[in-house]
This record gives sequence, structure tokens and C-alpha cells, in this order.
Amino acid sequence: MIRRATLSLNYVTKLKQSILNNLIDEYLSFMQKCINTLWNHNIFEGSFVPKKYYLHIRTSLTERYKQCAAKQALQNVKSQRKRTKKTKPVICKATLELDQRFAQIKKGNNTFDLWIKISILGGRPIYLPTKRHHHFNSFYNKGWELLKSCRLRRTKQGFFLDVFFEKQLPPIRKLGEMVGLDLGFRKLAVISDGQIVGGTLKQEIERFYRRKKSHLIIKEHINSELKKIDFTRIRVLVIERLRDVKKGRSKKARKYKKKRRNRYTNRLLSHWAYRHACTKLELLCEENRVFLIEVYPYWSSQVCHKCGSRGIRRDEKFVCPACGYKGDADYNAACNIRDRGLSLGVYGPQSSNYFPLVPVVSMEEV
Ligand SMILES: [Zn+2]
Repeated sequence: MIRRATLSLNYVTKLKQSILNNLIDEYLSFMQKCINTLWNHNIFEGSFVPKKYYLHIRTSLTERYKQCAAKQALQNVKSQRKRTKKTKPVICKATLELDQRFAQIKKGNNTFDLWIKISILGGRPIYLPTKRHHHFNSFYNKGWELLKSCRLRRTKQGFFLDVFFEKQLPPIRKLGEMVGLDLGFRKLAVISDGQIVGGTLKQEIERFYRRKKSHLIIKEHINSELKKIDFTRIRVLVIERLRDVKKGRSKKARKYKKKRRNRYTNRLLSHWAYRHACTKLELLCEENRVFLIEVYPYWSSQVCHKCGSRGIRRDEKFVCPACGYKGDADYNAACNIRDRGLSLGVYGPQSSNYFPLVPVVSMEEV
């Protein structure tokens, strides 16, 4: 399991800032030229770039930096090739993937408790002061291993260094139940074991989506709500596979945007929030050693989970005319999702995720 922490490098002097700017500009322009060459020569394989492809590029980068930038260029090109629409990558974010040869983290003993040593183009390395923070310490002091590669970024807000921590995880859980989880906006998450979190998500979005940093507020709200899920009795979590998010940006949607901006923004935000919640759930499952599976998303809220026939959904209520079941619509959807997970046969030996079937026991009985 790998987690990221970001250190701010905004305590540096003007001189060091200009040195950093210089380095980043040179690096990025070299990388873009490298991408162009690789793209023209159809090189989309391998893990490092032979020297002959960047010998002709004029730059003041050192040999080591050239290797590093070329490698990053190759990664860029490779990831672009995996897409369906293949266009030559153009660098727009100032991000440098550095390893320990270029950046090292040192302990400090004055007001700054960390110093970042960065090699520059010619001359001695520079030292950039930074401060630890709560998020960094939560890994640093708790037995996580600090990885040697890091990421230097330049944004509108200044310079940042992303560092990564790694921890070996215990094996995946073998006791507990399989549950389904339904994500929504009236209630953020409803689980088939009866848990409900984030009952006020819709109100939060309505309250904040006009603000400048609305997405940050909503992100934080989603994170803190999803953290409340009690995983102690859960062994496998089933969620719906993400619906097509791009639909929101079709031609129709653009027209829609001109006419009714508010509803459009609201809709995009809710799409985005859905995606964000999925990613957060993945992380939580990894931390709690819960197995996560995805099932197809259609009809889960229309079908009755007791008898399988189509029911009537009105807002938060679900009624089944065939068997007379009445209940919460989201809870019904969560049960349907769980049943789909059960029918997938994740426990079967033919599945790549096979682990031996253990009788479902609650944690207290162990
Ligand atoms: Zn029914």
C-alpha cells in the first residue's frame, strides 16, 4: 500500500526559486522534445530510452537529468498509447519524477525540520527548507517506509514535493459478510447490512456548488462521511461499476450548459462526486483489507431484491406490486448489488481472485 504526502517548498528564497524555475523549464522543454522524437520514431516499448534518440537535443541538463527526463517522456508516451484516441502527448503540468540521485530528504534541527537536497544544473546542490505536517507525520512516525523517489511540482500556488510512503499489508480478510453498497446523492452510501452514511450529501452540494472551491469542500465531506463506515463485519464489498461519466460532456450537454448553467454545474459536480467516492472507497477497502468487487450497474434500483420482479420507485420509497415488499429504495438497491456480487462467483476456483470459502461468521464469534 502506497500513500502520498505533499510538502510545501514555498519557504525558499527568491534566488532558489529562480534556480528551481530554470531547472523545471529546461527539464520540461527537453522532455517535450524527447516525446516528439519518440512519437515520430514509434517507440512505445521498453523501460528506458537509448541515448541515440536524445543526443541531438540541445539542452543544459546534465547526463543524469537527461536520462531521467527521457524515461518520464517514455512513460508519458506509453500511457497515451493505451488510450483509444491516440494523440501525441503535450506537457501542460510541471511535474518532475525524481529519484534519490536528484532529490533527498534530510532531517533539520532549526525552525525547519526537513530539508530537501536537490541537484541542479551545474554547481553544488541546493537545500530547500520545508516543514512536516500532521498528514506527513501520520506516516513518518508510524512505521511507514519513506520511498526514495519523489515528485517535484510547480503550480500556481508555488513549488511542492510529493513524497511516498509504503507499508506491507496484512493478508486480506477471511472472516465476515459480503455486502453491497449503493452510492447516491440523497444518501451518499447505503450498505445492505443496514449502515447509512452521508445522509446530507445533496444538501451539501446544493449549499456549496456556487462557491469557488466547492469541489474541495465536497471532497472533504465525502471523505469524512465514508470514513464512518464500520468495516469490522465486512469481508467483501460489492459496488456498481462506474457509469459512463463522459456522457455529461457530450454535444447535448454543451448546449445544455449554455441554457442552464446551474443545473449543468450541479450535474457535473454530482458525477464528479460519484467518481471521487468510488476512489475513496477503493482506498478504504485496501486499508481495511476488505475485498472489493464491481458489478454491472443497470436496473439495481428498479428490481425488487426479494422476488426479482420490477417494482415502483418513488423518491426514497420502493414498492413491489408482485410480492408486496415495501422499503427504502437505496437499501433495496444495495441488496441487489450484493446479490449480483454473490452470483459472480468470486469464490470459485476458476476465478483469479479465488480464496477458499470460509463459513460466514461474525467477528465476535472468533
Ligand atoms: Zn418483490
